[in-house]
Parts: sequence; structure tokens; C-alpha cells
Amino acid sequence: MIGRCLNVLAVIISICIFLISDNASAQNEWKAYEANCCTIQYSDDEHLRTFTLRIGGFRFTSEGLDQRLSLVKPRIDEIMEKVQAALDMHPPEIRIKIFLYPDFRSLGKEFRKFTLTRKTPLAFYAHKTRSIYVDVSSITDGVLAHEMAHGVINFYFKTPPPAKMQEILAQYVDLHLWD
Ligand SMILES: [Zn+2]
Repeated sequence: MIGRCLNVLAVIISICIFLISDNASAQNEWKAYEANCCTIQYSDDEHLRTFTLRIGGFRFTSEGLDQRLSLVKPRIDEIMEKVQAALDMHPPEIRIKIFLYPDFRSLGKEFRKFTLTRKTPLAFYAHKTRSIYVDVSSITDGVLAHEMAHGVINFYFKTPPPAKMQEILAQYVDLHLWD
């Protein structure tokens, strides 16, 4: 009898945990902008604006700075094309998500879900989730290209090359992005 009661209690507790976690994920809703290579995931328009500005997505026109958020799409694809050209690697099935975080602290919180032993970088790529994670307050086109290079390398090789070799290639892309 006690065993049965405990079973019922376990079911009730697991339903409660499910409802609580479901509610928590609903609070953290991500909006998406689809580019050809990537999906940009963001929770606030202001983060997307800062990101687009910092990676050089907005353009000057005769009427001043064009700040349409949709300009993030061609800019992301332009940077990805440069990265692939620099590496001469064009994995046809590449598809990456780019998650935008407003500051270093919130990026760090995400980073600690992957590892507890390393210091939080300014941005990182995780092949497990096929995603780049960035702090929009410090991102540059070079840093983004560096992380995209990690993505391209991981999609291109069936067995991804060692971390050190990837790092050398990604740093090369960062340095020579606009050569
Ligand atoms: Zn790197």
C-alpha cells in the first residue's frame, strides 16, 4: 500500500516538474530571423539592432543610415560566404543558429551549460547544438567570422579536426576576412 502511494506521489511530482519546466521555457521565447546560412535567434529587438550595427549590417544611403533589422540577413550571408571562400570549404548542408545575448554575464550563464572548467569566451560555437552564441555588446564581424569558421570546419569534415588545428584555421579567417 505504501509502495503504491509512493508511486502515485512520484507521478504527481514528475507532472509538476514537467509543468514548471515547460512554463520556464515559455518565458524565454526566442524570435527568429532566417538568413540563407543561419537562423538568428534573439529575445529582444534591441539585441538584434546592436548585433546588426556591430557586424556592419546597417548601410548609409542618401537619406542617412538605413537601420532596417532585415538588413541582418544579407550581412550574415555575406560574412558566411567570405568565411567559406577563405577556407575553400563549402559544406552544402550547413545550417547554423546564432543566439544573441545582451551581455557577457548572460552569455556566461549559457556557456556554463556546456562546460564548467573553462572561462567564458566572447563568443563560442557548439557543434552539439550546431549553434554560435554571442554577446552582442562586444561582437565584431571578425569574431563572428571566427565562430562561423568553426561551424564550417565541423560541417565539412566527417570527423572534425583537432581543436588546435581548428583554432589556427579560424584565426586565419578572422584575420583575412576582408582581404
Ligand atoms: Zn576559436
